[in-house]
Amino acid sequence: MTQARFRGGIAGWPVGHSLSPVINAWWRREHGVTGSYEHLPCEGGEEEFRGLIARLKRDDFTGINVTIPHKENAYRAADTASDRAKALGVANTLVFSGGGVHADNTDEEGFHAAVMAAEPDRKTRALVLGAGGAAPAVCMALHRAGFETIDVTNRTRERAEALAARFGFLSTVVDWSDFVQDLSAYDLIVNTTSLGMHGQPPLAIDLSGVPDHMVVADIIYTPMETPLLAAAKARGLKTFNGLAMLAYQAVPGFEHWTGIRPTVTPELMAHLEDRLLGRIAPVAIALTGSIGMGKSTVADMFARLGAQTWNADEAVHRLYAEGGAAVEAVSELFPDVIKNGAVSRDKLSAHLLANPGDFPALEAVVHPLVAQDRALAFERAQRAGALACVMDIPLLFEKHLETPFQAVVVVTAAEAVRRRRVMDRPGMTGEKFNAIVARQMPESEKTARADYVVRTDLSLQETAAEVSDVYRLILEKYAY
Ligand code: NAP
Repeated sequence: MTQARFRGGIAGWPVGHSLSPVINAWWRREHGVTGSYEHLPCEGGEEEFRGLIARLKRDDFTGINVTIPHKENAYRAADTASDRAKALGVANTLVFSGGGVHADNTDEEGFHAAVMAAEPDRKTRALVLGAGGAAPAVCMALHRAGFETIDVTNRTRERAEALAARFGFLSTVVDWSDFVQDLSAYDLIVNTTSLGMHGQPPLAIDLSGVPDHMVVADIIYTPMETPLLAAAKARGLKTFNGLAMLAYQAVPGFEHWTGIRPTVTPELMAHLEDRLLGRIAPVAIALTGSIGMGKSTVADMFARLGAQTWNADEAVHRLYAEGGAAVEAVSELFPDVIKNGAVSRDKLSAHLLANPGDFPALEAVVHPLVAQDRALAFERAQRAGALACVMDIPLLFEKHLETPFQAVVVVTAAEAVRRRRVMDRPGMTGEKFNAIVARQMPESEKTARADYVVRTDLSLQETAAEVSDVYRLILEKYAY
């Protein structure tokens, strides 16, 4: 056991899908390391990345992992670099110490371990697809693993040529439009492009003519099985995905930051697979707050950090829309509120303003449907391997819905700020506002019941920092 304490994170965009926080937490628990590891979304370019680094230095971070699209920026932002980071010109691991930033690249080590574990039958010729941030490390690892000839191809040919110019051991730059023509000479092909990743088009290659001993690798791990790997498996070829590379590349980072060299165990790999395959439930977070408190803004901030989000109001909109599941039942209760086959929200709110006693009947119809929609959203979040699912529920406390949630976050703002925001909304009247407020629990009671409170009467940046803190604390407590 050690008393080491560190503050780390994963910087990139997007970062929500990354398993680095899970790996880091696993080893921290295993080795009794205290501290935290957080999501550091960085949407912009090099300038924004440098701004992030300056903030992390001020906030006493120990070090971070860096992912797409900032690995080259990370290398350039560092004061010193390891030989392997220099050789690659990109960094995926930064260490902050003594006011400086040291860069390392651990991807080579990660891919090398993965390719060795795959035990290729022959190592005569390999083809690397892609020449982005991760490709140089893969090329170096293949070289170290003993491949005699390594070719490279990339959509933007100049990038592949620049790579070949840097590494004398790279043999041929193959044109991106040509590489699929003849793959028969290769013992291994590896996809280092982002094609095939969730949300990206697949990498479609005809594998019918390739040799039976070919190993097909993809460094992507979301999904675990890209269309390329699925096609290779269907063809009976040996395959491996990016999960082993990910786990092994994390080893040196943890060692840099804590002085402890952790081990990639089968238990850790099984845990990562369980997460990716949706076998682990996300943390259920309820987000609530009275009208005008800024819940939607805060929900968007959680989403940037990687949480899946669901919104009760949006669910009701879907249910009331033409063809929505609530239309028929509501039309039976209040035929006067139906317009063009949908529940008219204007007509419904006018009806309820005039007949407040009708609320319970409406709720008896709508609430079970909303609960069903929420349950489906949670299942989707789990299938996506999300760490957390944030459910935006305005009347959480009033309707006693908080029980199934592990954490309740209340969004709040000063009364004058909230009133101004609401009164600015089109169609809002003082009467409407007072009627809505009358149905909601007093603010002091809400914040007293909260597990976490986020204020929105600050600058957007300050509110985002509060959301980030809350997300980190919740994940540290419930997710890992
Ligand atoms: P990157 O620097 O942004 O490079 C992206 C690569 O994908 C470039 O070669 C790019 O070609 C190519 N590409 C993107 N869209 C394309 C398209 N529509 N058609 C053809 N090529 C396309 O990204 P990276 O950091 O190298 O990461 C690439 C992938 O590897 C990501 O999915 C990442 O998650 C994964 N990765 C996994 C690990 C791991 O540990 N398993 C480590 C690092 C990266 P152009 O040059 O023409 O744009």
